[in-house]
Amino acid sequence: MATLDTPLSELPKLRPSERKAFHRLGLGTVRDLLLHLPFGWDSYGVPVAIRELRDGEHQTVLGTLVEVGAKHTPRRGMKLTEAVLSDEGGGRLKVVWFNQPYLARGLQRGDRMAVAGVVRLSRYGSGFEMLNPHHEVLPSASGPRRIGGLMARYHLSKGITSRRIAELVGQLLPLAAELAELIPPAVRNRHNLPGVAEAVRWGHRPQTEAQWQRARARMAFAELLELQMAFVVAARRLEQEPAVPVPYRQEVIDTFKSGVGFPLTNAQRRTAWDIFRDMARPVPMNRLLNGDVGAGKTAVAAAAVAMTHAAGLQSVVMAPTEILARQHLHKFRAYLESSFPDLRVELLVSSQSAAERRRVITAVASNQAALVVGTHALIEERVEIPELGLAVVDEQHRFGTRQRELLRSKGSGRPHFLAMTATPIPRSLALALYGEMALSFLDELPPGRLPVTTAVVLPNGRAAAYDLVRREVRAGRQAFVICPLVEESETLEVKAATVEFERLRADVFKDLRLALVHGRMKGKEASMQAFATGEIDVLVATAVVEVGVDVPNATVMLIEAAERFGLAQLHQFRGRVGRGGHASHCLLLPDEINDRTLERLQLVARQQDGFKLAEEDMKLRGVGEMMGPRQHGVSDFAMQALAQPALLNEVRQEAERLLEADPQLESLPGLRDAVLRRLDQTSIS
Ligand code: ADP
Ligand code: MG
Repeated sequence: MATLDTPLSELPKLRPSERKAFHRLGLGTVRDLLLHLPFGWDSYGVPVAIRELRDGEHQTVLGTLVEVGAKHTPRRGMKLTEAVLSDEGGGRLKVVWFNQPYLARGLQRGDRMAVAGVVRLSRYGSGFEMLNPHHEVLPSASGPRRIGGLMARYHLSKGITSRRIAELVGQLLPLAAELAELIPPAVRNRHNLPGVAEAVRWGHRPQTEAQWQRARARMAFAELLELQMAFVVAARRLEQEPAVPVPYRQEVIDTFKSGVGFPLTNAQRRTAWDIFRDMARPVPMNRLLNGDVGAGKTAVAAAAVAMTHAAGLQSVVMAPTEILARQHLHKFRAYLESSFPDLRVELLVSSQSAAERRRVITAVASNQAALVVGTHALIEERVEIPELGLAVVDEQHRFGTRQRELLRSKGSGRPHFLAMTATPIPRSLALALYGEMALSFLDELPPGRLPVTTAVVLPNGRAAAYDLVRREVRAGRQAFVICPLVEESETLEVKAATVEFERLRADVFKDLRLALVHGRMKGKEASMQAFATGEIDVLVATAVVEVGVDVPNATVMLIEAAERFGLAQLHQFRGRVGRGGHASHCLLLPDEINDRTLERLQLVARQQDGFKLAEEDMKLRGVGEMMGPRQHGVSDFAMQALAQPALLNEVRQEAERLLEADPQLESLPGLRDAVLRRLDQTSIS
């Protein structure tokens, strides 16, 4: 008899392929499987005549089985059930189920049935087909016009189907009664949440839409509660560690302001002040500076570096790419070196000569350098920053927890820590994902920025788009062309970009100076540099330029296959132009044109505010899709729940309340273990 702790691999009648699929899905035990709720449902809709089916749509068909049989594909050893359904209109629909040979035994010619699934044009021959549809044999020819019942859709991996998971869950569901309840009754009552057993039953087998919604709400709440408690615990642990305080000194700020070259925006002052206040305390700062592209995060970080230097301490800034590290070097020098003559800034990247690296490492180790800027090269073993007072990570999402941790361990004690984002993250999401950090929002752009005129360009506008590039270049400006994102493989992406580059150079912009950069390229630093100094007119690039390149003279951003990028990413590309006070343009050229892609791209065209755009993107695509599946150890479930802005605050309050009443969670051992598991997973402190 199975228990909650029975490994799934020991369930009788489980095929090896299914065992592997569960392993890939991270499901080890019966408990894991029960907690793996479906993410959605397919319902049978109003039936459509076979002749009126449309390619690519999820549709329901009612018909009579005219052929059914089991087949074996010799090459891949797959078992198929193939069937043909015909309906009154005389249409014929081919239906194929993979790896469900038992279906063929249960179905008979003459059966009247309903199938629901995505319709595709048949690859062989004409007509339509459905692969792995949901099906139901109907009792009689006079069956209902509308089919009741829902079919669960589970997250899957190769080798398992939703139908099979539903079947296994069905057998194991009685064990739900034995699941430990992690949420205390008082909290459940306050938020009207069902118990875990009920939520699991309803989640897999709801009788009503309301049950399904409540089950989801409960599971999301539990997950967010664990996360927020882990954040509170982590923040509390950090509060107990000593850090060397960096006292606030007004004269440092006065000097900084006089040398930085522009008046700081209000948002820059406010966020710098957040940082100074944190750093003046004897516990380590742990803050996220969350801001739009071009909002001026570097200047805020530079002010913090100046303050740290005045306290006799060193700083380090880590960036994800060498291009970005070099730009930081120039900016920090420009912002700091004229007004703080003894503040030396050094660069450490892997492409430097061994001798140069040795020189920098020695300068840093002997506290000759107040700031070292670099890439991953910084977290090598040999690098020591003895008086490290401030560690900054730019574009923090590009680094793992371990890398950030390594950077923080470069000194003798714990430094103050500042993370910066590449694009703005809406408040609710930032709280959910970075709840252990204090948040500063840099939500104001420096004055004088012209909005970037953004347009969606349909195929008949392509020539005009190229003309615009040529006109701008003639006027002395420069342009970016971003090549399509190819998610399947970087090799393909590079190939596609190379082809496009050759085409542009040979046909479209014969008279202009072009260069290509992509992630795998050897000479890419040189090309970027040539573009930055104006020796190149048009920079053709894969998504590498995403990362903070600053070329104020660039005024056109042309993005191919724009629909393949996320809105936040498009906004980031757009932020590469419009930095020099010239009117600038962002041209979005979709590859696949349909209502949905146009709607998304139009949104970018209308909305210039990065925070608002990110919020709209969240609404449009759902948080899950926006951030990618299961990122940051948060299920798409919990992510979706975040669309309710009030929820997170409620969860946070409950987390704090529980920890205040029982700091070690002795009375809630189940919840304590769950929180500790999360802390290990994210190893925040
Ligand atoms: P990001 O937040 O994207 O990292 P940067 O720090 O690179 O932005 O700043 C973008 C550009 O804006 C830089 O050229 C920088 O010198 C300039 N800048 C920053 N702050 C101001 C300001 N207060 N006034 C004018 N220009 C500014
Ligand atoms: Mg930046």
